[in-house]
Amino acid sequence: MRKFGFLLVLFLFVLAFPLTGHAASKATHIFLNGNEIDLSQDTQVQIVNNSVMIPIRVVVEELGFNVVWDSKTSTVTIQKSDTVIKLFINKSTATVNGKTVKLAAAPFIKNNTTFVPLRFVSEQMGLSVTWDNTTKTANLYTQNSGSSGDGTEGTGGTPEQTENLTSLTGLSFSNNQLILAVDGKVSPVTSTLTNPDRIVIDLPNVKFGADFASQLPLDSTQNGQIAVTDYPDVSKIRYSLFKSSPSTVRIVLDLNYAKGFELTNQNDGLVIMDLNKDSDPAPGPTSPESSGKKLVVIDAGHGGSDPGAISVTGRKEKDFTLAVVLKVEKLLQNEPELSYVLTRSGDTYPTLSDRSKLANNLKADVFVSVHGNSGSALATGVDTFYTRSDSLALANIMHKYLVQATGLKDRKVQQASLHVTRETTMPAVLLECGFLSNKSDEAKMFSEDFQERVAEGIVAGIKEYLGIH
Ligand code: ZN
Repeated sequence: MRKFGFLLVLFLFVLAFPLTGHAASKATHIFLNGNEIDLSQDTQVQIVNNSVMIPIRVVVEELGFNVVWDSKTSTVTIQKSDTVIKLFINKSTATVNGKTVKLAAAPFIKNNTTFVPLRFVSEQMGLSVTWDNTTKTANLYTQNSGSSGDGTEGTGGTPEQTENLTSLTGLSFSNNQLILAVDGKVSPVTSTLTNPDRIVIDLPNVKFGADFASQLPLDSTQNGQIAVTDYPDVSKIRYSLFKSSPSTVRIVLDLNYAKGFELTNQNDGLVIMDLNKDSDPAPGPTSPESSGKKLVVIDAGHGGSDPGAISVTGRKEKDFTLAVVLKVEKLLQNEPELSYVLTRSGDTYPTLSDRSKLANNLKADVFVSVHGNSGSALATGVDTFYTRSDSLALANIMHKYLVQATGLKDRKVQQASLHVTRETTMPAVLLECGFLSNKSDEAKMFSEDFQERVAEGIVAGIKEYLGIH
């Protein structure tokens, strides 16, 4: 009897005070300037230590903030205008423009969604916030809401417009140039920020292409970044779905110091931001001399965990191919009509499909893969391989220069089904620049002179094929 009474009290207690886990699953609401933001089941507002925690995607999509998630350091960086907030997962301190601030609750991850304190984020970003605990409703107001505003704030609630969005299909940084590949028209809007120095490129009416995430880091909140190590002007490149209506991709170049640039929109699928060129005030985002810049992708075979063939003296094919490609890069830097991207510029191993996808997504005009051959000790000479018939013209020209440059036996242009020449969608060749298994070929292949001549031949062949003089 006593036992039953105890259980009854416990039962009533549970009814009166549902466990917090249950409370969290109750529908919650966020209104922005009076319009309700659609919250999915996984993105319901959570309440921790009396702090309202909101899923960060809501911040990204509706409030127009730029959010970058760094999984290595578990850091969430939230940025709007000149305010930069850094939050650290499971840490109850944050920084605002470098100053440390205490938080009522630490950001956390649940269902693969990052939750951040609503009040803190909003107040630091100049929003006013109220929370109604009975209806579980957060109300956010932007400073100039109510007035007609400048139209830059998302108003929420607007159904997603899917008409005619252009996709960003690729992004690459090399030769101090940011190269963006898109599958339609874009009208980039650029701006610069100081302290720290940044260049911001907004692409209105653009979304991330379906393949983008297979090529570059892009997390579930549509944020990603890549580090830039080989060019001193830029430290990293961040990109995000900055706004959802209209869908806007934002790209931020974090600079090591203030730097001018020239933006070229070819309106044929490539946007090139060239930091080698300081464009003087206001030629506008679409310069007329934009036509005709061609993009070549140069692929140093093998790399990283894949050494390629081991030469007769024990040297590695991957080192030969990289040495040649880096010489090609030096030469291409002096070609104003060519942009280029290397599939690797160090001892790394991009997979074969990484290499072909990169070139395809960038809509490169030409793909050249550099290799060294291996066979019997007596085998010698150079081959040029292609797969698709639209690569034959390129193969013939490249081979002519390869034979000239190396002075080795002509083993002819050959058709073969090799991944990088088959899976790419532009004229593509694979050059076998001599036999690493042959004593005489190999000695030449590891000499600076030979490599330089091969590099010159590759550039000359590309230029002839593209009709550049
Ligand atoms: Zn090879």
